[in-house]
Amino acid sequence: MADWRHGFYKLTRAQRQSLVARQFDLSAQQEQLLNQQVDPVNQEMVENYLTSYHLPQGIAVNLVVDQQEYVVPMVTEEPSVIAAASNGAKLVAKSGGFQTTADTAMMIGQVVLTQVDNTIIDWLKQHESELLQVANQAKPSMQRRGGGAKKAQLRSLKHGWVSIDLMIDTDEAMGANSVNTMCEAVGNWLSDNGLHVLTAILSNLATQSLQTATCKINAADLVTESMSGDEVGQRIADLSELAQIDPYRATTHNKGIMNGIDAVLIATGNDWRAIESGAHAYAAIGGVYKGLSTWRFEKSQLIGSITLPLPVGIVGGSIDIVPLVKINQRIMKVNSAQQLAQVIASVGLAQNLAALRALATNGIQVGHMKLQYRSLALSVGAKPAEIDALVARLQNEQHVDHQFAIQELEQLRK
Ligand code: NDP
Repeated sequence: MADWRHGFYKLTRAQRQSLVARQFDLSAQQEQLLNQQVDPVNQEMVENYLTSYHLPQGIAVNLVVDQQEYVVPMVTEEPSVIAAASNGAKLVAKSGGFQTTADTAMMIGQVVLTQVDNTIIDWLKQHESELLQVANQAKPSMQRRGGGAKKAQLRSLKHGWVSIDLMIDTDEAMGANSVNTMCEAVGNWLSDNGLHVLTAILSNLATQSLQTATCKINAADLVTESMSGDEVGQRIADLSELAQIDPYRATTHNKGIMNGIDAVLIATGNDWRAIESGAHAYAAIGGVYKGLSTWRFEKSQLIGSITLPLPVGIVGGSIDIVPLVKINQRIMKVNSAQQLAQVIASVGLAQNLAALRALATNGIQVGHMKLQYRSLALSVGAKPAEIDALVARLQNEQHVDHQFAIQELEQLRK
């Protein structure tokens, strides 16, 4: 009889469910929930499949990027992310929206060699075209599309260790699998030629796929009831500087940016762990971890900019498999990976603006807690019809915690 340790993977999904239910004393209702959320596509995507875990998807509006208006699907469990993205985008739209620029769109694959001496370095330099040929022969379909391995650069890591960085154009895909195939082929070829290959794999620090988005906001659009636009603009610029000099603040600054970026990555079937790791590594590329975006206040204008590696795809991976991703691509009207990266960078900057504006003015909690209270209401057992009334009660209070929410719900029901 299969169990957790022996042949669990050989069980059918139903058998796995029954084992889980028995072992962890699930109620009939809980078992039914596992069953209800079974998805035949998801079932083929992962090992030891049990059920499907759903996340909320909403739509961010008001985003204007390079003169084009976008409606952006976002998937997140965190209240206030979508509202904040829409608010930030609306503010920027008043001044013409976001502008984007990108240099190249290449993935980097690395083949790391040890026991390298000057003779080997010379040999590698002389054989760059063979290296590229071997890489491209391993995945000819990319070259047929006009992509493929374009360049090989040597990077010294420590004495005797060298990384051959292959610059690979994966066209409309993120291309991790193609890059890995190409790197392994090059690694095998180099081993056959007597070199010592430590590893051959893509790097998620995609510095050849940097995407920039910028925006300008007039001070007049930043005015609040108690602060002038100049005051708000200058405070946002100061907060930006803080994220450049203090890694503790920079981490939270970047977390806010990734709130928006991850939500769009998930909605579009992209690998958010890949982009997260690349973004944080890029934030520390100068040796100190810094905010990914910067804001300066000049001549009554707040000027924002963000640059990060965004090697995203509109084909490949789960994108071609998950039906909701196709719907989301349709809603976004993105026709290329580059266009998707432009939108995602802009969402990150919009998200950041909303957070910094809140920090510079009322603080983050006022808007945030309004939305958090909806989650709190649900967590204490409020029915959908009770949520608005309970949230309204909680908003009027100064000290709200779980116990207090339970009491308020009981009061409401009397
Ligand atoms: P691939 O390069 O393998 O996939 C691209 C696929 O899209 C290929 O099947 C390709 O077809 C097809 N395709 C169709 N049209 C195009 C086009 N215009 N341009 C490019 N490709 C096209 O890699 P993926 O993009 O699938 O890799 C991403 C996935 O890899 C993600 O799910 C990620 O989670 C995972 N992954 C990530 C890693 C990491 O980040 N470190 C490591 C390993 C996997 P054809 O085969 O004919 O070329």
